[in-house]
Formats: sequence, structure tokens, C-alpha cells
Amino acid sequence: MPDIAILGSGMGGFGAAYRLHAEGITPVMYDKNAYHGGHTASFKDGGFIFDQGPHISFTKDRRIQDLFADSVDQMYETMQVNLNNYWRGYWPQHPVQLHMHGLPEDVIVKAITDFVEERQAPERPIRNYADWLLASFGQTFAELFPMQYTRKYHLTTAENMSTDWLGPRIYRPSLEEVLRGAISPSAPTVHYITHFRYPREGGFMSYLKKFVPLGNMKLNHELVAIDPRKRQLRFSNGVVANYDALVSSLPLPELIRMIQGAPRDVCDAAQRLACSTCVLVNVGVNRDDLSKSHMTYIYDDDLCFTRLNFPHMFSPNNAPAGFGTIQAEVYFSDKYKPLTGSPEDWIEPVIRDLRRMGLIREEDQVVFRDARLLRYANIIFDLERADALKTVHGYLDDLGIAYCGRYGDWGYMWTDESFKSGELAAQKALAALAACAA
Ligand SMILES: Cc1cc2nc3c(=O)[nH]c(=O)nc-3n(C[C@H](O)[C@H](O)[C@H](O)COP(=O)(O)OP(=O)(O)OC[C@H]3O[C@@H](n4cnc5c(N)ncnc54)[C@H](O)[C@@H]3O)c2cc1C
Repeated sequence: MPDIAILGSGMGGFGAAYRLHAEGITPVMYDKNAYHGGHTASFKDGGFIFDQGPHISFTKDRRIQDLFADSVDQMYETMQVNLNNYWRGYWPQHPVQLHMHGLPEDVIVKAITDFVEERQAPERPIRNYADWLLASFGQTFAELFPMQYTRKYHLTTAENMSTDWLGPRIYRPSLEEVLRGAISPSAPTVHYITHFRYPREGGFMSYLKKFVPLGNMKLNHELVAIDPRKRQLRFSNGVVANYDALVSSLPLPELIRMIQGAPRDVCDAAQRLACSTCVLVNVGVNRDDLSKSHMTYIYDDDLCFTRLNFPHMFSPNNAPAGFGTIQAEVYFSDKYKPLTGSPEDWIEPVIRDLRRMGLIREEDQVVFRDARLLRYANIIFDLERADALKTVHGYLDDLGIAYCGRYGDWGYMWTDESFKSGELAAQKALAALAACAA
């Protein structure tokens, strides 16, 4: 049996293990953490369960739906998603472009006027995300909403971003849809997520249950060096291991730094890849009617978080009966807005802002609070990404190291896509081994 090593035990790593298992191969899986799951890990504390950022499964891929459902023995919740926004004291439904009803009259009139003018203007070339937003919505709406959200979520300007990540993520409405949403409080919900599934017990991490035995798991193994000539891995605990084929789901900037002999231009390219870092602040409250929405997008600069989710609404088992939970995402980026201080510094500002929004009331008791750091959160599709990524991926292809997952592919990938990317990387590793043997 070939020695196939998988770096990382998140969705990407398990996708690779699943594909190899189908060939009768048990890979060795290494993870630096004391637990498996990466970004899909869940943590239980004082009866509260929090994931590493809001995690819900909205994949439309039947095969993945069935795999996840099987992993939790069909014990999952199915819910109709309810999303809203918070902007200067208003709470429009999501997406705002279809739900302007209730916003200030001047804003609605100006936004619709600009929208119509933009649709009548001659087409202009789309050079970046800002151009795309202006062409899709007109200036007023673009600047007040998506461009503002971009600065809070992607930590750079829309002018500095490409459009290759958009897919179905941002809905381009027709004039009729905009008008209906401005006139009526009950315009239809149009979003690429309509329903989601979530494990009944144990948080999102339960979806990994049946994949864990597929690999020979080595936790507390932090990779520090790769010798691609000797096909050897070195870990911070002193372990040295050989491999015949390697699949990595590690973040590319870290992976490249560890490869002995990596050329200067590749190292430089890897450092140009931008991503966000997220401080997650988790709060438990002695009331469970905190929100009607599963998630809220926050636009205002004077509120420190960019998005809120309410984990007790994903499954009643995520909190003790009668208690509610809020998870706030506060974003930073080494490249654009470095985090200074510790994640814990954000607990009090988050609670203060939740009170200002009225989500936590005077009489509520905050019975749980903690903060966690997601060093790698969202890939930032800035204008440097495509070139830098080509250089990095080209080098890994030459070395025969198969990469996968959100931080190996360096894309805006959901759990199902990361899993499938792992399967593909394993397939690549198998093909390379077969070519060597021939
Ligand atoms: C805030 C947020 C919200 C999200 N919400 C959703 C959602 O609602 N639905 C959805 O489908 N997807 C969601 N996603 C995306 C989802 O989390 C990812 O697609 C998926 O978890 C990525 O899996 P991965 O295996 O590629 O990466 P990871 O889970 O990061 O796995 C990489 C692994 O490598 C390990 N590692 C890193 N460095 C080393 C080292 N030096 N040595 C050894 N091990 C190392 C890490 O510990 C980790 O376990 C969200 C992501 C974020 C950030």
C-alpha cells in the first residue's frame, strides 16, 4: 500500500481520505491541533455549542447531502433560512436590493433613480468588483450597501477586488423586483441559500463522524518542514515521516514557507495571497427569542462586527433550554487591517454593540462569553490574487504536491466544495503514483 500523507483534517483532508478509502488505501492524516475538523470543528462549553464561524450546510449536491446525512445517521434539522441586515437602525430583509421597503424615502428614491439611469447608460467594461456593483445597482445603492459591506468583510475596497468569486453570491435584480421590494414589505426572498441542514447533536462537526476512521489520524502534529526531494515531512514534535504521495489542505502561505528550496519568486507570490482573520466572540444569554433571523449582516462602521449568527436557532441542542446564543464575527487581515491585541479584547466591545442594537436588553444576563481566533477565514479576491496563485499552484504542480480545500485552492469554497476538492486532489495523487509505477 502506498504511503499517502494528508496534511490537515478538515473537509478538504477528509474528502481526500474518502476518495483514497474507495481504493482500499488508509492515508496518514496529520493535524497541528489536538482535535480534528479544522474550520468545521465545534466546541462545547457550559452546555453551549459554538462552531468556528456560522456553519450550515446548503449544498445542492445530492451525493454530498447524502454523505453528510449518513454521517449523522439522518439526525439533522432542515430549516428555511432567514437572513436580514442591519443598517443605521433599520433591519431590511436579505438581500437589501430586493427589500428596500421601510428604508428612508430619500434613499429609496435616489437608489431607484440611479438604478434606472445605470440600466439606460451605455455598457462599460467591468474592470473590477466596483464596476460590477455600479453596473448592477447604480451608484447610491452600490455605495451605501455592498461597497460598504466589502470594506467590513473583505477589508479592502471594491476597486481592489476582482469579480471571479461572485458566482450566485450577489443577486442582480430586475427593475420590477427592486420596485416591488421598495413598495411591499413582503417581496419574495431571492437568495442562493433557501434551506439548510444542520446536525441535531454536537454542532456542525458531527458531519465528520463517519469520515474520521478513514485515516490514520495523527493529531498534535504541526508540520514545520517538507523536503520534496526526499519526500519527507518534519513536525514540531520531532517526528519525521516519509511519504510516497502528499495531499495538502494547509494554507498556501504556510505550506510554501515550509518547503525546503522553494524559489524566491514563489515565496513572494505566496506572501501576496490575502485572506481575512476573524475574531469570533461567542455569547450566551438567558433568553432564546433574540432574533427571528439565523444571520444578520452589519454595515455600520461604528459597530465592530460584520456579521452575527444565532447558533441556538440552528439546533435546539446548541444551548440549554430557554437560553440563546450569539456569535459575532470581527474581521482583520494581515495585509489590509492587522489584528493588534488579543481576541479576548473584543468580548466587551461586541457585548456593548449588541446592547446598542437592542439584541441584548438591559435586563438580560450574559451567562457565557468567550473569544476565538480564526487565523485563516475568507480568501480576499484582491487584484493580486490570480497572478500570485498561478505562480504558487504551478510550483506545487511541478513538485507533485496535490493541494485542496479552501486554503489549498485559495478560493471562496463552502464545506461541500472543500470536500470535493479533497477528493480531486487524492485522485491527482493516485494518478501521479500510477504514472511513477508505469
Ligand atoms: C467564518 C466562516 C463561515 C463559514 N460558513 C460556512 C457555511 O455556513 N457553510 C459551508 O458549507 N461552509 C462555510 N465555510 C467554509 C468552510 O469552513 C470551508 O470550506 C471548509 O471548512 C474548509 O475546509 P479545509 O479542509 O479546506 O480547511 P481547514 O478546515 O482549515 O483544514 C485545514 C487543516 O490544516 C491544519 N493545519 C494548518 N496548518 C498546519 C500545520 N502546519 N501542520 C499540521 N496541520 C495544519 C488545520 O489545523 C486544519 O485542521 C465558512 C468559513 C468561514 C471562515
